[in-house]
Amino acid sequence: MTNLSTEHSPRVRDDVVRQHVPCNLCGSHDRQPYCPENGLGLVQCNHCGFVYVSPRPDAKELYALYGETYFHNNESGVVGYTDYIKDEPNIRRTAQRRLTHLEQYVSPGKLLDVGCATGFFLDEARKRGWSAEGLDVSSFGVQYAQEHFGLTTYHGSLTDLDFESASYDLVTMWDVIEHVPDPTTYVRRAAELVRSGGFISLATPDIDSLPARLAGRRWVGFKLSEEHVYYFSVKTLTKMLNEAGFEVVNVRHIGKYVPLSLFRDRLGFYFPWLAKALEVGEKALGLSEWALYINPYDIVQITAWKR
Ligand SMILES: [Zn+2]
Repeated sequence: MTNLSTEHSPRVRDDVVRQHVPCNLCGSHDRQPYCPENGLGLVQCNHCGFVYVSPRPDAKELYALYGETYFHNNESGVVGYTDYIKDEPNIRRTAQRRLTHLEQYVSPGKLLDVGCATGFFLDEARKRGWSAEGLDVSSFGVQYAQEHFGLTTYHGSLTDLDFESASYDLVTMWDVIEHVPDPTTYVRRAAELVRSGGFISLATPDIDSLPARLAGRRWVGFKLSEEHVYYFSVKTLTKMLNEAGFEVVNVRHIGKYVPLSLFRDRLGFYFPWLAKALEVGEKALGLSEWALYINPYDIVQITAWKR
């Protein structure tokens, strides 16, 4: 979860080895610094425009970020989520909204959620009639989903696990593709698993969105240093999907449900008196459990159909 209220302060680990990597989308080594003021080591490919981190830690170091502390972390501006478990009701409401959208394109069938975390999305999908399975590099998330909801979840990355080819009606990747070391291989692997006529749907921060361009180096999408190694636009993600055999059917910017208290904290940064008044009102009216759907218009969801 990002935090609008603090000055952007990337923290890059200085104890890991970093290596230059070619553009994951087109293979070019021709690049130039991108937004160097933010200190994240971003470059932009001069050939296709893809923005990525280079040099950077290897895949093992990148995956090492996603242990149990990732889902319980009091420094969410650094890595992971303040308290993912506590946010369960809002994650579930957000999941319902996304499923309602997707079911316009594909009826409940076999679903694979890549980066399923603790399984809240999968559990909501199952309630709607989906045969839902997931995987995650976090063993904590995978175990939580099994123990609390009896879900079928696998520990590992999409490219390391065995799944039946052409057997899924839908593959979802929520806030995943910007984290993985080799997104092109991920999308191609998803294309193998989705049946002909099936769908993939991904959500990721949109570096070309108006909020991102207006905020410049202060864009909240830049906050999670080390975790995000790729920064997509509609153009670069569409190119990656097309080359894997997908045809884009829908592009939209999406939000999520956040607790009223989080909204109040962020408001307090700009209007402390208003936040204080809201807090008093919340307590008086018993609204502490309320949530708001907030769409910052800088997270893009792209849904594509397998040719
Ligand atoms: Zn490129």
